[in-house]
Amino acid sequence: MNTIPEILSKQRTFFKSQKTKDVSYRLSLLKILKQEIVSNEQAIYDALKKDFNKPEFETFISEFGLVISELNLVIKNLKKWVKPQRVKASMLTFPSRDYIYKEPYGSVLVIAPWNYPFLLAIEPLIMAIAAGNTVVLKPSELTEHTSKLITSMMQNVFPETVATSVEGGVETATELLAQKWDYIFFTGSVPVGKIVAKAAAKHLTPVTLELGGKSPCIIDDTVDLKLTARRISWGKFLNAGQTCISADYIIVKSSIKDAFIEALKTEIIKRYGETPKESPDLPRIINRKNVLRLADMLEESQIVFGGEIDVDNCYIAPTILNIPDLDSKIMSDEIFGPILPILTYDTEQDIENIIWNYDKPLALYVFSKNNAFIEQTIKKYSFGGGVVNDLLIHFGNHRLPFGGVGASGMGAYHGKTGFNTFSHDKAISKRGNWTDPGVRYAPYKGKFQLLKNMFKYFS
Ligand code: NAD
Repeated sequence: MNTIPEILSKQRTFFKSQKTKDVSYRLSLLKILKQEIVSNEQAIYDALKKDFNKPEFETFISEFGLVISELNLVIKNLKKWVKPQRVKASMLTFPSRDYIYKEPYGSVLVIAPWNYPFLLAIEPLIMAIAAGNTVVLKPSELTEHTSKLITSMMQNVFPETVATSVEGGVETATELLAQKWDYIFFTGSVPVGKIVAKAAAKHLTPVTLELGGKSPCIIDDTVDLKLTARRISWGKFLNAGQTCISADYIIVKSSIKDAFIEALKTEIIKRYGETPKESPDLPRIINRKNVLRLADMLEESQIVFGGEIDVDNCYIAPTILNIPDLDSKIMSDEIFGPILPILTYDTEQDIENIIWNYDKPLALYVFSKNNAFIEQTIKKYSFGGGVVNDLLIHFGNHRLPFGGVGASGMGAYHGKTGFNTFSHDKAISKRGNWTDPGVRYAPYKGKFQLLKNMFKYFS
């Protein structure tokens, strides 16, 4: 087996051969990848089921289906996306024809998390290959079955010189990060994001950091409570709350808090029954360590629904908490589990005091029928992206860039934005030779006013 420096060195040599610049070569790889994924559909469901009891339905809607849509989009549009884009020339460069060339960065490192272990590994891989890069992908060590499957699928599709999966934990990631890459795409937690940024800075390597944080969900008193509770019961407990853009906590108008909690309990029971542990539709927590982390967060909380924990079976029931303190454990870190604290507000100032207590979140949700309140909320707070009157769905539109801001990350992807992320925009001005205006050439005497007029007129 090749060592990490050997893999990288071979990928660099292959990249220099210019083969990945050939769009038909990229397309042929992406088509084989699609075939491989389609023929492994059941194996993908099985792997995620084994890793954390993820239901096939959820694996389809939030991993397999999204990957196939992204592949279809790229296969359909890649020839168009790679064309140098002509932009209007400036009169100051006259005569010229100006273009943006899409250039692959070169050797790309992708590091993936465990919570959507197939989607969040394969989607960046697709876009990096589409843009003409070579890729080393490190899937998460916590989803053993999915990561093994990804490795074997990549072996079936790509020569190692183009793309390969390197499995392993922190030690492997550390060794990967010690190499000099042309681009690093990381999805994971804020603390590890900082480690990645530091390693990248050493070589001035550009990075995309897709991180997490505490994403709020504001509910005012104009909403349809039943519909709101129904949508939140879906978005919060999908993947057992282990979603980077899950609603971390609710801020509800105090006058409707009790009614909202009742409506939410009803919806949770409709989704998962009176004993959610027996529901085939509720995934498990990824491992014991995370169950214990969540159990510790629950200490001193006022549980108004759920709260059952079975450490050995990595189970935590959908749980609702009543008005925790901002300095409680549950409100100090990203929850990343099926626990939903409910906070209340009476005034706009109350909402500010809560949201501005935290770093800029990855997502923000607002449920309301009041357009002025909705627009004000969207404009006032800084966050990666969000939804009005639902959770998560902005992730599903490839025309919307997906990414964080501030501590929730930098850079974005999805759809064409993903292709752009893995491409350097190379600016090219092609100068015409049929004339050569003399104003810029010395001696400058007598030309200064003309130059000033030109700037005034054309810029
Ligand atoms: P994590 O940061 O622990 O791990 C992510 C990856 O980094 C894994 O492949 C892991 O092996 C590697 N890693 C872990 N420690 C490392 C170290 N010291 N040095 C180098 N690499 C290291 O995150 P996770 O637990 O896998 O995922 C959960 C986190 O990811 C949550 O915070 C969640 O919000 C975030 N997340 C963000 C997005 C997004 O799109 N913004 C998507 C999914 C998850």
